[in-house]
Amino acid sequence: MTRKPIFAANWKMNKGASETEDFIKSFLSKIQGENFPCEIVVAPPFISLPKLADLLHNANAGQNAHAIQIAAQNCSQFDSGAYTGEVSVLMLREFFVHFVILGHSERRAIFGETDAMINAKIKKAREANLKPIFCIGETLAERESGKLEDVLRTQITGGLEGVSEKDLGEIVIAYEPVWAIGTGVTASSQQAQDAHAFVRSVIADLYGADAAAKIRIQYGGSVKPGNAAELMACPDIDGALIGGAALESQSFLEIIRHGSGSPE
Ligand code: PEP
Repeated sequence: MTRKPIFAANWKMNKGASETEDFIKSFLSKIQGENFPCEIVVAPPFISLPKLADLLHNANAGQNAHAIQIAAQNCSQFDSGAYTGEVSVLMLREFFVHFVILGHSERRAIFGETDAMINAKIKKAREANLKPIFCIGETLAERESGKLEDVLRTQITGGLEGVSEKDLGEIVIAYEPVWAIGTGVTASSQQAQDAHAFVRSVIADLYGADAAAKIRIQYGGSVKPGNAAELMACPDIDGALIGGAALESQSFLEIIRHGSGSPE
């Protein structure tokens, strides 16, 4: 089973429209004429989506621009109406958004998102044909107290409750150990591979071996140019979700090159 690796930049609450433009122009100039054996996704803050859509999809965007796909960092589980501060899936579609990051540990820990909310968002995203990047991962305390597998299984079953096998085919899972996000501490390739193999086994229990073999599982947590190749060489790791190191076009590109085995 060959799964196309997918590398996604999660900019979090960084880069307004002008910094988005600087990054994209710099990134596109570096990848002139290159073909990557992977998908490349950028998730800016909502406010920068129109600029990103314009840069990548206007008439003069150029051939390389289509190498980059757009993600949102969140979406509402509701269609429209009295939900102050929220952004709907149909609003995202207007800006060529194809992916949406859901269940990021910062959304869970800081904004109180539960497995049930994340499940509702995944279903709403699929109604609009958006592809969820569904984040799961354990805290250090959970790992150290032997709860890693229980936590991952609960997050997966809760998040995917009632999601069809067909929709699962459009979902990317991002395994992100919370203790590795933004800390500079990366899971060892063995820790990451073991967790990814476990996640795949849970998908096999829920949807069968074929679905499990097909689903892409990204690793996230302090991925950098220097550790990308080793992590991405693991058999169950299919790309990366990258925060800090994706804020700079050169390091994002180096991760993609080292991680996907594409030429320097
Ligand atoms: C993330 O925010 O999803 C992430 C993995 O961040 P970082 O790469 O900075 O650890």
